Amino acid sequence: MTDLVDSFSRRINYMRISVTDRCDLRCIYCTDRFDPTLSHDYILRYEEIHQIVKAAAGLGVKKLRLTGGEALMRMDLYRLVEMLAQTDGIDEVSLTTNGTQLARHADGLKTAGLSRVNVSLDSLKPDRFERITGSDRIKDVLEGIEAARKAGLNPVKINMVVLKDLNDDEVLDFARKTLTDGWHVRFIEHMPFVNGNGANGTVAIKDIMSSIEASLGKLEPHLPTSGNGPARYYKLPDAPGTLGFIGAVTECFCAECNRFRLTADGHLRPCLLDDDEIDLKGPLRRGADITELERLIQEAATRKQQQHHLGENGTPEKRQMRQIGG
Ligand code: SAM
Repeated sequence: MTDLVDSFSRRINYMRISVTDRCDLRCIYCTDRFDPTLSHDYILRYEEIHQIVKAAAGLGVKKLRLTGGEALMRMDLYRLVEMLAQTDGIDEVSLTTNGTQLARHADGLKTAGLSRVNVSLDSLKPDRFERITGSDRIKDVLEGIEAARKAGLNPVKINMVVLKDLNDDEVLDFARKTLTDGWHVRFIEHMPFVNGNGANGTVAIKDIMSSIEASLGKLEPHLPTSGNGPARYYKLPDAPGTLGFIGAVTECFCAECNRFRLTADGHLRPCLLDDDEIDLKGPLRRGADITELERLIQEAATRKQQQHHLGENGTPEKRQMRQIGG
């Protein structure tokens, strides 16, 4: 096996796979509320995703994360999870979801071989949840989180994108959840995509950390057992849950980047924040075999940028977050 190493000696062993660009929420910072979605023929079939994963696994990709859009909008996601989890070389398949449909799928996903889930939740207040997502389904999300915990999809991580003047006053409420409910909460800086997408600006991770320490006590560094990625983890004194901080904008972690993204329409994106993509669906549908897919994946590695240019007029323009997979 030849390992997948990019031009800056970074080993690529992780792929995030968007299985659909459809979502049952319309978060103001993630998507244009009226943008059309792709028709069925344009998105990869499960068998096509499996082919690409087999090629990637042959090059050393070991971890997969399913995302979207909202992955649970796709019919029979279990079938894909099962195929991917049983692929030679794949150690872990996880899911990022908005949680609205998680309660009824958690057990089935676990049985199919899913390891764990991250649930996105930006407010604990029903009216505000509705303002951000365009939906009143916060209760379903909270039930989904509990169902995932009970199904053993642990650690269930709760991702909160901190939005200036929209939900930044809830940081302490989320942090308290690590004390009272054992939640594992991660705070994510808002990334400006396609003209800012209805959010007012980024709240820096260092400010989020300072406000938590000022009110709830010293943050103790904590090394997670799995899935640390770009987050830095801490705990509040005596908290059963953890706090993660992802400074996507103010703390560049590109030097440790180990990932690719596969869009629902079959484009391999070396960097979330760069519009460059390699089409895999076209070659696949014209009959490309595993060797050809491997060659294209290797080419994508050579095209991976050293670092993103967000904040220097480097905002991605071709796709919104919903269309990439986050
Ligand atoms: N529907 C799923 C969900 O809600 O988790 C998966 C797709 S969503 C695009 C993945 C993650 O990207 C979510 O946690 C979302 O909050 C985050 N996200 C979307 N737009 C973002 C932005 N502009 N900056 C930071 N995070 C963003």
